Amino acid sequence: MLQLFIPLGFLGIVYRQIKYALADMDLVFKLLERQPEIQDAPTAKPLVLRAGAVRFEHVDFHYDSERAILRDVDFQIAPGQKIAVVGHSGAGKSTLARLLFRFYDVRAGRILIDGQDLRAVTQTSLRAAVGIVPQDTVLFNDTIYYNLAYGRPEATRAEVERAAEMAHIREFIEGLPDAWETRVGERGLKLSGGEKQRVAIGRAILKRPRILVFDEATSSLDSHTEQAIQQTLAEVAENHTTLVIAHRLSTVVDADRILVMEQGRIREQGTHRELLAAGGHYASMWELQQREARTMSEQEDTAPALTDA
Ligand code: ADP
Ligand code: MG
Repeated sequence: MLQLFIPLGFLGIVYRQIKYALADMDLVFKLLERQPEIQDAPTAKPLVLRAGAVRFEHVDFHYDSERAILRDVDFQIAPGQKIAVVGHSGAGKSTLARLLFRFYDVRAGRILIDGQDLRAVTQTSLRAAVGIVPQDTVLFNDTIYYNLAYGRPEATRAEVERAAEMAHIREFIEGLPDAWETRVGERGLKLSGGEKQRVAIGRAILKRPRILVFDEATSSLDSHTEQAIQQTLAEVAENHTTLVIAHRLSTVVDADRILVMEQGRIREQGTHRELLAAGGHYASMWELQQREARTMSEQEDTAPALTDA
């Protein structure tokens, strides 16, 4: 009997997670692979969303107790501000996004939205308030229309088309033989990483949550598409509280504050100018990426000559 009950309970929780996770399907699929840990407290209340202030208060976190992932992470995002997080792979950046969406609970410290501890509010209300464009998006085995409209299922056709346009994916969709009815996902048309990212961006545009998280949201796009989408994202993020986890530093130059993460700690923070002037870790990352960008554009300049030869 016990064996029967455990999987059923598990499915119930997974179902709820799927239903409420909205723009975060990659995380939901990861959830399917592990035990659900997070449940609403018996006293949980709906989040009372005001201006959308986010606060991480001395947060410690680990997945396995042997290895600390976040250590004393402390920062706030004022309503409407854009905070960027940069740092090497493995530094703990995506973990911040997962904690803000409460896929895990902090081990010490607190995370607050408009003064309310995430552990005291219902997951449904939290996930309605926060939207994440994840690092890599998993699509449903359904039509591309469904996959986009998932950001806000009650959206009109015109709104879905407009969101697709803003995410620079409309032309691609309308060029497919079955257009909006094209089936995608594991059992349908396989989209490239960049196309999937644009679907995720379209979902976020439709959902327009008060708090937006972009987790390297444009990392799979070519630099031309990325530039065009950066412009759209800047418009979408206007007047929203935004956390941008960035791969290319050129996308964070305009952030109100940049946090530089290293091995789970915030090592430096400031505006782009302040961090350059400080001449620390950020400044050397910037220098390195500028040099790489120059090399790339030189290669692009010489590419036609090479193909002619
Ligand atoms: P970043 O986004 O900065 O590249 P992450 O936040 O994804 O880094 O990961 C931080 C660290 O946590 C990495 O060392 C990663 O291997 C580890 N990690 C990420 N997810 C899990 C998990 N589900 N279980 C155990 N360790 C994990
Ligand atoms: Mg990451």
